[in-house]
Amino acid sequence: MIRFDDVSVLYPTGTKGLDGVSLEIPDGQFVVVVGLSGAGKSTLIRTINGIVPTSSGTLEVDGFRVDGAAGRGLRRLRARVGMIFQSFNLVPRSTVLSNVLTGRLHATPWWRALFGWWRKADTERAFQALERVGIVEKAYNRASALSGGQQQRVAIARALAQEPSVILADEPVASLDPPTADMVMRDLQRINRELGITVVVNLHFLDLATRYADRIIGMRAGRVVFDGTPAQTDDAV
Ligand code: ADP
Ligand code: ADP
Repeated sequence: MIRFDDVSVLYPTGTKGLDGVSLEIPDGQFVVVVGLSGAGKSTLIRTINGIVPTSSGTLEVDGFRVDGAAGRGLRRLRARVGMIFQSFNLVPRSTVLSNVLTGRLHATPWWRALFGWWRKADTERAFQALERVGIVEKAYNRASALSGGQQQRVAIARALAQEPSVILADEPVASLDPPTADMVMRDLQRINRELGITVVVNLHFLDLATRYADRIIGMRAGRVVFDGTPAQTDDAV
């Protein structure tokens, strides 16, 4: 469960990223956050794993207080929350497998990771994650040799390898063509349905949102201005 209670984010520039957001996301929900550029979608997502600190209010993820968390507590939280970005954020010269293994860093002694002496259990977990997104045959290719859609699948596998309870995806399909975007959304949906992982995705486009979301959250100027099912968006827009 993710719980926002009157959460605001004030950036050092004076901009309000979030303005009194209260909402609860139960485990296993597929939530899509929509809104125009600058509405606060990204800020909302980034508070959930503590990348963006909250300025006021309380925020809990799986009972863990994110607001005010630091150090070890924050690292533990981030281990439970996988993240996917618009730009994939892979290490291009590394293999697909090495990229996915970085999802195991939190569970591995640093010296093992440094020398690439991964435990068998970690490697197995990485392969399972690659299988789930259907690119296990690319394991030994360089990440940079893959298409955009495939790279995003690697990023999803990396998040999955963490064994997260939540996956956050910040505009994951913004740089993909429509069929590829659909493929990536379907991967996220499958992970949500099959593994029960909560998924929170930011999207620009309402049509993709209505096709995949259990719940749509609409934002404007840092506030939640719509919260309902895809069917209810017909009345709202
Ligand atoms: P969205 O994801 O909907 O495009 P954002 O969450 O990125 O919106 O931005 C919300 C508001 O916060 C915007 O006005 C944006 O300019 C501002 N903002 C976002 N990130 C920062 C930052 N790091 N520093 C200052 N202002 C920011
Ligand atoms: P189901 O009961 O739906 O089959 P399981 O929890 O038994 O789901 O998991 C099925 C497969 O997915 C197993 O191989 C398991 O190791 C793997 N798995 C389960 N949870 C995760 C997770 N959070 N991330 C990655 N793989 C997972």
